[in-house]
Amino acid sequence: MEARDRRGAAQQLCRIITGFYRRGWCLATSGNFSARTQNDPFRLLITRSGLDKGLVGPDDWIVVDGDGRPADGETGKPSAETFLHAAVAKQMEAASVMHTHSIPATLVSEHFRTGGGVTIRGYEILKGLRGVTTHEQEIFLPIVDNAQDMQVLYERVQPRLATRPRPHGFLIAGHGLYTWGDSIEEAKRHVETLEFLLDCVARRTRFAPFE
Ligand SMILES: [Zn+2]
Repeated sequence: MEARDRRGAAQQLCRIITGFYRRGWCLATSGNFSARTQNDPFRLLITRSGLDKGLVGPDDWIVVDGDGRPADGETGKPSAETFLHAAVAKQMEAASVMHTHSIPATLVSEHFRTGGGVTIRGYEILKGLRGVTTHEQEIFLPIVDNAQDMQVLYERVQPRLATRPRPHGFLIAGHGLYTWGDSIEEAKRHVETLEFLLDCVARRTRFAPFE
């Protein structure tokens, strides 16, 4: 885990978000991104609320504490999902948490919801995930039901992240993907790897009509 300076982290995250936006992974105000700037006390840099992710700049960020509240005299409203970012960053001891809303992740999360998750194996790109060294290694992404209350959502997610082996991310049904990393670079790599995998799963799945 690494701590980052605020300005440098914001600029790096902006470049990453622009790339993700172009791929359709965080259109409109969807998705949010965070990076730990300090470990003790816990401080997290996150996007402000309601930002168009195609237009996000280095001033559109806010530092929050471990409960997701503005810290150190910061003003403004952090992203609606800030509490979940902070909770996941602490539980997974992550330096960066990233959340995307792609079409494949949304479709897969809804289709596999009743099974509690989706198992993925057999793809070379799995090696983009920390600790995965062969395409034969199987990963499991838990899926939890969506909620607008982030505390309720975290209560659903928390036990699913405590399993061994630890998951590399999770899906919220009908909503999107969360993943994280030991650094901003690793979290970005995990988004790209998991979005690739979810796109593969989506293209091979025969989806039922939405009810
Ligand atoms: Zn979201």
